[in-house]
Amino acid sequence: MPKTTCAIVGGGPAGMVLGLLLARAGVEVTLLEKHADFLRDFRGDTVHPSTLTLLDELGLWDRFAALPQSKLERAELNLGGQPVTLIDFGRLRQPHPYIAMVPQWDLLNLLAEAAQSEPTFTLLLEHEVTGLLRVGERVTGVRYRSPAGEGELTADLTVACDGRGSIVRADSGLPVREFPVPFDVWWFRLPRECDGEYSLIPRIVPGGLVIMIPREGYFQVAYMIPKGSDPELRARGLAVFKAELADLIPEAEVSTLTCWDDVKLLDARLNRLKRWYTDGLLCIGDAAHAMSPMGGVGINLAVQDAVGAATLLADPLRRGDVRRRDLVAVQRRRLPAAVLTQSVQRILHRKLVQRVLGGAAPQPPAALARVVRRLPWLAAIPAYAVGMGVRPEHAPPFARR
Ligand SMILES: Cc1cc2nc3c(=O)[nH]c(=O)nc-3n(C[C@H](O)[C@H](O)[C@H](O)COP(=O)(O)OP(=O)(O)OC[C@H]3O[C@@H](n4cnc5c(N)ncnc54)[C@H](O)[C@@H]3O)c2cc1C
Repeated sequence: MPKTTCAIVGGGPAGMVLGLLLARAGVEVTLLEKHADFLRDFRGDTVHPSTLTLLDELGLWDRFAALPQSKLERAELNLGGQPVTLIDFGRLRQPHPYIAMVPQWDLLNLLAEAAQSEPTFTLLLEHEVTGLLRVGERVTGVRYRSPAGEGELTADLTVACDGRGSIVRADSGLPVREFPVPFDVWWFRLPRECDGEYSLIPRIVPGGLVIMIPREGYFQVAYMIPKGSDPELRARGLAVFKAELADLIPEAEVSTLTCWDDVKLLDARLNRLKRWYTDGLLCIGDAAHAMSPMGGVGINLAVQDAVGAATLLADPLRRGDVRRRDLVAVQRRRLPAAVLTQSVQRILHRKLVQRVLGGAAPQPPAALARVVRRLPWLAAIPAYAVGMGVRPEHAPPFARR
């Protein structure tokens, strides 16, 4: 049976960064990704200041800077008829104080190319993991399906990076704590003729919230609908939706939406494993803590989980001796960031999304407008929380180039 030292399931941000770092530590890594490429659009495109610094530390800055991208330097909110800067990344004392909007497939391709230049890294595309291998209680690898048929791969350690619908996590039986999310997302494209600016803060009217991500030639639109309301809203007809959309985004051309197939439903979820590991298995990224799209922070958190895990596990993997306490250390290091970030997302769900989708007009407190206008440096605090995260990670020495 084929064998590797570390089997990584899933080539999203968490899996690709973990694979690259461990390969640079000389660990034999096999990454299994179920798709044939990274060209899927059901993800956000935000690359945060802490991830930009990481790319620099990894020696990938020049290649990253050459990717098509736009910069988001601040986020404003209309308070009392005037725009107020609520999040100002420019105030961060960081080498790259902005959010780069880069199609995620470009970033993943870049990471995959860098990883594939390491002799110990193997990328297996079109390999869908279908379950775990076990000897007694210990996880010893994965079962997969590929165009060549079914197969098995044994590994000293398996890391689940297969996102919020993680098969590995489900098969592991690790208990999950689910938190209610009051919305789902309709995900569709609109033509981009005007140069509308992307904002982390959704565009809001009573009953509707929308985020528009600028991509080359089109806007990727995330339109929030009350949880579970998809069948009922679709039954009203596409014309009704297009009329509402035209009110919400008057500058956009909505006639390109010709049938409901153009509008994909994404199930927004927020949950967390109580324990991220069992013998022979670790879960990180959305597989350990599925993030809501609120605030656009899930990618950053997944990347930082990967850096933290690689930093702690490279040595034990090289020695061929990964113990339970090593996996405990990864969870200890990354759990506070996941808990705090999800707590803020849950507050935003309750105080903002639920109210607005229930038809209430958003009423930002006048006091907030006064305070932020008088003390503009306060905008550095949310900028740090969003841009750097709760525990920013840096590339370990073995991965730097
Ligand atoms: C609508 C929406 C919009 C979002 N927008 C943003 C945003 O703008 N910014 C942001 O930071 N976050 C955003 N998020 C959250 C963000 O997408 C996630 O937090 C982040 O992608 C998690 O990264 P990950 O690597 O853990 O998992 P994922 O990105 O989900 O990657 C998982 C990978 O595993 C692969 N995979 C799955 N199952 C298997 C299997 N059985 N075998 C092999 N491979 C498998 C998948 O194909 C995928 O490549 C958004 C989420 C949603 C739902």
